[in-house]
Amino acid sequence: MSDVRDVIIIGSGPAGLTAAIYTARASLDPLVIEGEPSSTSDQPGGQLMLTTEVENFPGFPEGVMGPELMSSMREQALRFGADIRTEKVTKVDLSARPFSVWIGDPEAAEPTYQAKTVIVSTGAQSLMLNLPRENELIGHGLSTCATCDGFFFRDQEIVVVGGGDSAIEEATFLTKFASKVTIVHRRDELRASKIMQDRAFKNDKIEFLWDTTVEEYLFDEGPLGAKLRGLRVHNVKTGEDSELLAGGVFIAIGHRPNTDLFKGQLAMEDNGYLITGAAGTEMESATDVDGVFACGDVQDHTYRQAITAAGSGCMAAIDAERWLEAHDDIDQVRTETTW
Ligand code: NAP
Repeated sequence: MSDVRDVIIIGSGPAGLTAAIYTARASLDPLVIEGEPSSTSDQPGGQLMLTTEVENFPGFPEGVMGPELMSSMREQALRFGADIRTEKVTKVDLSARPFSVWIGDPEAAEPTYQAKTVIVSTGAQSLMLNLPRENELIGHGLSTCATCDGFFFRDQEIVVVGGGDSAIEEATFLTKFASKVTIVHRRDELRASKIMQDRAFKNDKIEFLWDTTVEEYLFDEGPLGAKLRGLRVHNVKTGEDSELLAGGVFIAIGHRPNTDLFKGQLAMEDNGYLITGAAGTEMESATDVDGVFACGDVQDHTYRQAITAAGSGCMAAIDAERWLEAHDDIDQVRTETTW
């Protein structure tokens, strides 16, 4: 186990990396645990690694690709000395200071790292339909990331499930590759913003299947396992079932926060988002455990933008810095709920 750090940042999306830039510039030598590439919930760089063009991040008049933006933020954090490690946190103990963080075996007696403050920026992940064989079909015709997988479906017919901004964004991007994109939505009205809707309605390659739910994945068994060939869908108004054949299916039905690690340790809303900055606290990013801060999508289900995540990462860094200035006596103190 290494020495007690001033700050450990868990997560490396726009919130975590902005917190890293600020705490590094404040000479707090932040340790950033960025996650592991193979995992959906621990994707280093966060959800922007799975997006296409970001048109609304200030400073990029021509837009910027999500992965490129995250790579620049990472470089900027490294430039100021952030210690970024490609590891996955398996357990935390926030019941006593210094706080403890485990990598690898969560039953290990000794934690891997300890810190005086923790900034939680673990983000959120894609929701799935939870239909049979879903997990094994991911990468075999089923995807949640048009940027990553769109290329594989060149000149094929593709289905996108969902009716929000994500679904429309994915569908619009996929028209670059696909011969046709069908958006399957469970209602007859989109949730997506007007500008995104207009773009999709004007796109000749996009069709809509309204009032339709997905009942089943259709697939063929092959030597490499199951391979998706379409969906069995159900029209909720007519009650009719039908088969919708597709080379690829993209699920874009929203997200859930990555807060399993903190269950029973940090205050959360019913839907799992962390609660920050409750009445009575001066620090907007403070959780209910003194010295633990949270920023980005893990505590924000309202705005969920890269720029708001980055802004809240800056706030968490400043809050942690001020907290450290005010607390010299951090060693071996039982934490107490501050609210
Ligand atoms: P969202 O806004 O929550 O939309 C989820 C969509 O999936 C809704 O249309 C919902 O249907 C549908 N859905 C949910 N569960 C379903 C299920 N089990 N089966 C079938 N359909 C289901 O999520 P999002 O599109 O991921 O967007 C999240 C946030 O990110 C939003 O604030 C959005 O504005 C933002 N965003 C912005 C951009 C951009 O500006 N470029 C891009 C992507 C996302 P109902 O409509 O019936 O509820």
